[in-house]
Amino acid sequence: MQTPFIHNHQLNVIHKQADFLLKTMRTAADRKVLETIKGTAVTHAIDSFDQLTEEQKGLLEQMSTYEAAYELQSYLDDLMPYVVPFPEVSLKQIQKLFPKSKKLKMPDLASIDYKRTTYLRWTDIATNRLYIVYPYEGRLLGIEGQITSTNKNGFCMFCNRHRELGFFNVKTRGGGSPDNFASAGQYVCMDDEACNHSITDTAPLERFLLAAGK
Ligand SMILES: [Zn+2]
Repeated sequence: MQTPFIHNHQLNVIHKQADFLLKTMRTAADRKVLETIKGTAVTHAIDSFDQLTEEQKGLLEQMSTYEAAYELQSYLDDLMPYVVPFPEVSLKQIQKLFPKSKKLKMPDLASIDYKRTTYLRWTDIATNRLYIVYPYEGRLLGIEGQITSTNKNGFCMFCNRHRELGFFNVKTRGGGSPDNFASAGQYVCMDDEACNHSITDTAPLERFLLAAGK
């Protein structure tokens, strides 16, 4: 029985390093170069965790022991039982997070790959509203706002990859009077799944959600 300890964004770090390692293996780089890259890959993977048991560290270090691409690929598959899934949320919980949305479009929860999800997001295409649900310190944060396609590529604020961006604009309640609205906006990926498969650090996402959720 494995205890899950790898979060999706950490798995993304591991995949990113493994991809680089695979590329190096395929180009048949010099042995020394390959060893250096293996070492760096393991260091980056380990650095994405705050703490690890010796056993968990050993599992990450295994990444540097493979000689063939297919071995590394099956190592990545074998990590899946160690991945911590996004917490299960019910439609009722989601409704509660967005009490002001009268015609709230619900996500298709059955289609979500919980192990590959750092933040749950879905778009109501009819109204261009983007909804985000994120577990933070034992509770769920819910944010909604307009997303407008920019038809341009750029760096996503959440995952930091170069992708097709939308401008996500969230109305926030300013300090003082409840009528005092401000807004917070960011350029983020248009593609829900791509962003979740790329995010390697949750800090920018958390900063935005906390600022926008006020
Ligand atoms: Zn993104």
